[in-house]
Amino acid sequence: DRNPDEGGIGVIGLGRFGCQLAESLAALGREVLAIDRDARKVQRWSTKLDQVAQADSTDEDALRQLDVGDLRRVVVAIGASVQASVLTVLALVELGVPQIWARATSAQHAKILSSVGAHRVIFPEAETGERLAHLIVSRMLDFAEFGDAFAVAKIHVPEALVGQATSEVRLLERYGIRVIGIRSPGEQQFRYVSDGLRLDKDSTLIVEGTIDDLQRFSTLS
Ligand code: ADP
Repeated sequence: DRNPDEGGIGVIGLGRFGCQLAESLAALGREVLAIDRDARKVQRWSTKLDQVAQADSTDEDALRQLDVGDLRRVVVAIGASVQASVLTVLALVELGVPQIWARATSAQHAKILSSVGAHRVIFPEAETGERLAHLIVSRMLDFAEFGDAFAVAKIHVPEALVGQATSEVRLLERYGIRVIGIRSPGEQQFRYVSDGLRLDKDSTLIVEGTIDDLQRFSTLS
């Protein structure tokens, strides 16, 4: 059996999200089969993507003719029509696609997608909105959140701590955060930090902790 990380990837629904996804996958060197029922969209994307096909993805036979059943992974990127997205997932289940990822636009939609057999449900709008909210209210430059509110963030050295040494500030005890990496002014790359690092004004840090602690820490002044 082939590695699921290799092989072609199907993207169904060339709306704004699906197009961006298909383009990014192609940029990563992956073979993409993009499908939409709208002939104008198929036409428009046929010059930018290697394989673009026009089909109604709720039609199992149409998908079979495109050999969608041979793909290891298919992302259903249809958002607006819950019915089309759910029926498409059903068709993919029937075809035996091993990894079906589906985009949900609401919690109910997500529940239905899971119950009909989507292996992974994604929420691009909700995730982007939540992410932006964190970036707007904090001074984090970037972050990634994992389960249980655990996160890793890129931040400037908080104003209140400029000039101090990490060994003196007891970051974990006082703020619940740990510094993983630092980039000093003029440096291109982050490096792992050792004990007793001094926090210079224009340094950038990579820190870990809960999202709330990181948010608070980034704004200490
Ligand atoms: P976005 O919010 O990312 O723009 P939309 O939900 O508006 O996404 O776009 C969905 C895309 O999926 C559209 O291009 C539409 O033509 C396509 N689509 C909708 N239903 C089907 C279907 N049954 N088969 C194939 N493509 C479909």
